Amino acid sequence: MKRSQTMTTAVELFALQEIDLALDSATSRLAEIEEGLGETENLISARAVVDEKREQLSELKVLQSEFEASEEDIGAKASAVEEKLYSGTIANPKELSDYQAELKMFKDQIGRIDDDLLATLDEVDGAEADLAHVEAFLATMNRVWEEDQRKLKAEKAEVEPKIERLVAERESKSAGLDRGALSLYQTLREQRAGMAIATLERSMCGGCRITLPTSLVKKARAANELVQCVSCERMLVVV
Ligand SMILES: [Zn+2]
Repeated sequence: MKRSQTMTTAVELFALQEIDLALDSATSRLAEIEEGLGETENLISARAVVDEKREQLSELKVLQSEFEASEEDIGAKASAVEEKLYSGTIANPKELSDYQAELKMFKDQIGRIDDDLLATLDEVDGAEADLAHVEAFLATMNRVWEEDQRKLKAEKAEVEPKIERLVAERESKSAGLDRGALSLYQTLREQRAGMAIATLERSMCGGCRITLPTSLVKKARAANELVQCVSCERMLVVV
């Protein structure tokens, strides 16, 4: 086969493949970066835990103030009864013992509320400690996440123009190439994990490591035409 001016060489396709491989890796890295941008599941669930703990604490505080209010309320009632009892105005013994019974009832109630209040105060302490703990955890996680996002954004700002550069480079490199050769190249790239061109290593195909027939090795070295490996069908290049 006579070598024409327009004939595409394995060397040209090999150079194109270098660009395509760089483009593949930059594109998949960009996809990873985009996947990593935004809030993570861990961050969202840590924030949900903080919200839940905050809610628990505020419910306990509501309970605490309810106990305090009723303690105050019953305390006021007890004081009123006490005042009456010690005012010396009650002469009737029946009335006196009724008031005494009422006072005792109020004091018993206050005692019970006091127990509940103390238990609730304990729970408030525990809930406050819990909340502080998960808040600190969230803050740390948030710092790490922000740093991570900053890095990803910086990398994205580098990868995107790199891809643009490679696409432009690919366009200009492939512009002068033979259509048939390009189409074979594309097909092989799809079938052979992105590697359409393999280097000839002595008499071995660098793609599938098979030892090639001498005649094929000679043809590949002559580089007058595109030569494919007999086994993996990759085009062979001498570099
Ligand atoms: Zn091969």
